[in-house]
Amino acid sequence: MNLGEVSAHCYNITTSYLSANNDSAIIESTKVAIRITRNHFLQEIFPRWNPFSDQISFSYNGGKDCQALLILYLSCLWEFFLSSIQVSQYPPEYHLFPLKSLPTVYINQAETFRTLEESIETTRSRYFLSVYESPRNQTSMPEAFKNYLEHNTHTQAIVIGIRYTDPFGADLKCVQKTDSDWPEFMRIQPLLHWSLSNVWSLLLYSNEEICGLYEKGFTSVGSVNSTIPNPYLKRSPGADRDNNGLKNHFEWEIRNAYGKEEPTDEVRVSAFSSSDAKILQEAGTLNYYPGWFLIDDSLERAGRARR
Ligand code: ATP
Repeated sequence: MNLGEVSAHCYNITTSYLSANNDSAIIESTKVAIRITRNHFLQEIFPRWNPFSDQISFSYNGGKDCQALLILYLSCLWEFFLSSIQVSQYPPEYHLFPLKSLPTVYINQAETFRTLEESIETTRSRYFLSVYESPRNQTSMPEAFKNYLEHNTHTQAIVIGIRYTDPFGADLKCVQKTDSDWPEFMRIQPLLHWSLSNVWSLLLYSNEEICGLYEKGFTSVGSVNSTIPNPYLKRSPGADRDNNGLKNHFEWEIRNAYGKEEPTDEVRVSAFSSSDAKILQEAGTLNYYPGWFLIDDSLERAGRARR
């Protein structure tokens, strides 16, 4: 595969999702969310910053929100490519996808889970990410972005997978300048309006491999010292039959995931590292329902506390 082919694949995922024959409230609202994001990219963002130049970068930390946004971004990149060759005098087979890799920035701030690191490595090659990784623990977030911009002087805009329900997300806009205490670039935030259930619905339907921590009860991932599985997903003994009242709202997405030849309950997750298993075992935090059992946005970060 190359970047053009994986972009076409992501386009097929979103097109297939949009034509899904299921009118559950979550799927309906996710379709609306996808269309809004798609319009942002195609009408507002790509005409302003050419995605086939090095004007736009993607901020990626392997989390579920940026992976969902990456699938949408690549899907729109493919659509943008198709529309650009439509006006050409040459037939489509003469047009090469103009980008070989996607400029990506990963700020490696603190000690992360091995499972996440390995998952970032897998997605780096899966999606042809050309990742700039900031040196760990050397800098603050603004300083790390300043370094990135010094290495990538053509970058004008950076795509970020933040949502309104994230901390400090409520007042953000899809396109806005960084604050005055940050290096100057345009923040591109086309996932703001997405709910937690929208993110899970698309991601689980995509059949793309997701970070294995989510299967172990994580719902949002920070550093090793500041993240545990979500306490609201804890399995209590004897309560297995009704899942503590928790429910998998995404059975349809999982069973009918894109590209599955037969419906199965399998979710493709990256391998769970034995070193992380040891950390969670020591903390007594190994027995949790998968992260996607939680759809309440207000509880998403309940596991983002100091141990
Ligand atoms: P999760 O909440 O499950 O960890 P996520 O990491 O994608 O998913 P957030 O932690 O809310 O979401 O971060 C919001 C967005 O900010 C990310 O999607 C990513 O675009 C950007 N971001 C956050 N941390 C980093 C980082 N260390 N390096 C690069 N980008 C980051």
